Amino acid sequence: EVRVRFAPSPTGPLHIGGVRTALYNYLLARKLGGKMLLRIEDTDQNRFVPGAEQYIMDSLRWCGIEIDEGIEQGGPHAPYRQSERKPMYRQYAQQLLDSGHAYYAFDTPEELDAMRARLTAAKVPNPQYNSITRAQMRNSLTLPEDEVKQLLDSGAPYVIRLKVPRKEEIRFNDLIRGWVVVHSSAVDDKVLMKSDGMPTYHLANIVDDHLMEITHVIRGEEWLPSAPLHVLLYRYLGWEDTMPQFAHLPLLLKPDGTGKLSKRDGDKLGFPVFPLEFHGTDADGQPTVSSGYRESGYLPEAFINFLAFLGWNPGTQQELFTMQELIDAFSIERVSKSPARFDQNKVRWYNEQYLRAKPDAELAQYLVAELQTQGQDVPADKAEQIAALVKERATFPADLAKEAQLFFHRPTSYDEQVISKKWNAPVASALGAFAQELTTAADTSADGIKALLTQVVEGQGLKLGQVLQALRVAVTGAAAGPDLMHIMSILGAAETAQRIQAAVE
Ligand code: GLU
Repeated sequence: EVRVRFAPSPTGPLHIGGVRTALYNYLLARKLGGKMLLRIEDTDQNRFVPGAEQYIMDSLRWCGIEIDEGIEQGGPHAPYRQSERKPMYRQYAQQLLDSGHAYYAFDTPEELDAMRARLTAAKVPNPQYNSITRAQMRNSLTLPEDEVKQLLDSGAPYVIRLKVPRKEEIRFNDLIRGWVVVHSSAVDDKVLMKSDGMPTYHLANIVDDHLMEITHVIRGEEWLPSAPLHVLLYRYLGWEDTMPQFAHLPLLLKPDGTGKLSKRDGDKLGFPVFPLEFHGTDADGQPTVSSGYRESGYLPEAFINFLAFLGWNPGTQQELFTMQELIDAFSIERVSKSPARFDQNKVRWYNEQYLRAKPDAELAQYLVAELQTQGQDVPADKAEQIAALVKERATFPADLAKEAQLFFHRPTSYDEQVISKKWNAPVASALGAFAQELTTAADTSADGIKALLTQVVEGQGLKLGQVLQALRVAVTGAAAGPDLMHIMSILGAAETAQRIQAAVE
């Protein structure tokens, strides 16, 4: 059985990169009839952000990403929150100590700083605690056994570190990148257990993936450098046979491609990077609000369709996919190795497609609700006609109400360009005659109005094209807008005639 997990740390709002990771996991799970887990990785208590966990769950729910096992759903491997699993990790650290693959380290923060300063001064590029530096540090590999025992008995603070082999090639097959080979000299002796007895991300992540029988680890590229360490952990814990397959997803880049899309980019560049609005605090404790897709008027279907294409494509021309279609079409093999560039116009385009594809009755509901907040009442059938007409000009539901304003307000000014170019005595007189005819017209459908207009205008020796712009300005004030015949039909003959009369006078 395929089992995948989304394993966020509740250190802040989930950003769109995180949602994409969750989405790809979910698509694979559903495609292969497997299970999707949500595990909260909260072992770093210092970085805990209140509300972040709830935010993550609300976001996934809004996106339609369903969780089979997790902190809300429970499941055979509960609890799914790492802070609640704390007692389970110690034995695995002990196992690594016993087999000689891990060791106690007693270095104080000052000693660690001094070591890093020394290496930096010597121009060592990435100061590490590794097989070379550990020889100079205070740990159970360098101190005599009785001293180690004494330190432990005295309650001296310590961490447990992984003993990374000195000269070894660590290799694994990434489902997206192929073979990844890293020399062990590039891998730190990472801390597995902190002095407060909490496991670090690395230990907890591997232990949980093993105990939860995870088959595929699909996560962001930023975790690729940790993967060799994880491979070592699987090996030393004796779990190599059931090690999950890794798939590291490509980076998400800023719209201009100049670097990784960051959590701060959203409000800077003027588009959301979070699924839902997030209320947090800044470094000085001041309240902050980050904009979200939901509150900005994006439909979850559009957001998900867009996200799915940030790093994956179906290999066909089809761009619009429901969640079920994504599930059917998805495969890890078609996830790209190269970074995906965020494209604001594309996500807006998706929203337009999904918004306009909605039944008019549903759009009318948005419209009625939005107009109500502005104190405008509109009957349902009228709202439906308006929605059907203006949706072609809308990207967000709120645009429907903006576009609908012309039905509720007579023009207070007229587009000057049109007036100066298209308005003249013969046109005004033709429009006046048309208004007159309208008041007694039998057929006030869009087609009926058009026929009447053509007849009146041609009767006055003009062509339709000579009056249309002027008529639009007379009725709406603006030079552009939805189809004019439909506007007049929805406004009704009397209102339209009055607006024209007002303009002609
Ligand atoms: N807790 C890690 C994160 O916040 C999980 C990384 C992984 O999937 O292994 O992304």
